[in-house]
Amino acid sequence: MEHIYCDVCKKEVHNPVPEFSFFDFAHISVCESCRDDLNTALKFTVREKSPFDFTWYDDLRMQLLKQGVQKGRIEIKRAR
Ligand SMILES: [Zn+2]
Repeated sequence: MEHIYCDVCKKEVHNPVPEFSFFDFAHISVCESCRDDLNTALKFTVREKSPFDFTWYDDLRMQLLKQGVQKGRIEIKRAR
């Protein structure tokens, strides 16, 4: 069986199913929990930044992912 590791938290994805238990963003593999963190981080920025535009949205997502790969987790800036 193929082993998939999350590029952000580096944990192995058990029972990997594309688009269900792991996600691929421009060849960066992300597990479900890191994908949730990414969506939360994006949500906070999208609320503050307007007007919404997919150009900066895609850039922002890649930026958050690359930082996440380096830091081992997706940074969520806003206090809950
Ligand atoms: Zn992960």
